[in-house]
Amino acid sequence: MKILVTGGSGLVGMALQEVLKNTEYIVLTPSSKECNLIDSQETLSYFERHQPDFIIHLAAKVGGLYKNMNDKVTMFEENMKINMNVLECAYRCRIKKVISCLSTCIFPDQLHFPIDEDMLHNGPPHVSNDAYAYAKRMLEIQSRIYNEQYGTHFICVIPTNIYGPNDNFSLEDGHVIPSLIHKCYLAKEEGKEFVVRGTGKPLRQFIFSKDLAKLIRWVLENYIEKKSIILSVSEKDEVTIGDIAYEIAKNFHYQDHLVFDSSYSDGQYKKTANNSKLLSYLPNFHFVSTKDGIKETVEWFIKNYETIRK
Ligand code: NAP
Ligand code: GDP
Repeated sequence: MKILVTGGSGLVGMALQEVLKNTEYIVLTPSSKECNLIDSQETLSYFERHQPDFIIHLAAKVGGLYKNMNDKVTMFEENMKINMNVLECAYRCRIKKVISCLSTCIFPDQLHFPIDEDMLHNGPPHVSNDAYAYAKRMLEIQSRIYNEQYGTHFICVIPTNIYGPNDNFSLEDGHVIPSLIHKCYLAKEEGKEFVVRGTGKPLRQFIFSKDLAKLIRWVLENYIEKKSIILSVSEKDEVTIGDIAYEIAKNFHYQDHLVFDSSYSDGQYKKTANNSKLLSYLPNFHFVSTKDGIKETVEWFIKNYETIRK
């Protein structure tokens, strides 16, 4: 069985490669240079040439809060094009199952919490990431209408905030954990304050990339429903950005130098997700704690500093 993983070089893609290593699968992980998914011809010709059985569609234009706020046209247009091409070509090539990746950050803002799988289209997303959110929401619609009209098996998984080795550690464009790891590292090197943007009060649920990769494999092999499923830690594991920043600083022994710059946006205050559907299938799944996951990520960051995305 052949699996095409789009976005195989990214944070989640690299964790998935690890999970699928030494299994019975042949795993294809083309980079955007090998197959630029924005280009419909290139996408179709790659799919036709390689004829995968399954696609795990992770490729996307991805970024943290400030990337989403400052580059809305790219976030909208590139994601729309990539997703349109992947699903249309998957249909034309008769792919048996496509698993695409949404995010809890695309759900309506100011909704009652917790979020569940049925609420995706019940109101506008937060203004800070509306471009990315609307493009991603169309992926769910497109998957659903292909299933309705052509009987395909296109499904969507919905992770919360993800982090781990191989993340994008960009100071400006990265998500909060990789950006803050990099910022704390530099602050210590330069003997400066470790500046965390916003008030530190917003709440998030973080899933370690390796846990998510295991769950995606489980979805591929065991989840036969066509409705989306949230892949997340539990509500009780929600933490503040301030707690996360402190945990990162502790790994560098630099917690006394942590300050908040509230002139920056906090983004969404919270987006608490309900993982009870997942737990009904996998009640005993063990999630890596943020303490252990951050420790592993910091160690990986330091070891690979010269070559990482930053
Ligand atoms: P990432 O680390 O930024 O990786 C993005 C991947 O997409 C890279 O492998 C990149 O390949 C590929 N890509 C981008 N543009 C492409 C193009 N035009 N053609 C082909 N490939 C392209 O992303 P990630 O954090 O692993 O995210 C994986 C999925 O999870 C995404 O769908 C994202 O929306 C979703 N998600 C992420 C988070 C999070 O916190 N990170 C949270 C919820 C959901 P190249 O390097 O070769 O360009
Ligand atoms: P979000 O969960 O989709 O909002 O994405 P992020 O991973 O970018 O997390 C944003 C939250 O982390 C906001 O509350 C920010 O104010 C806070 N934050 C603090 N410092 C940083 C930073 O350096 N980069 C990012 N991306 N967010 C930061």
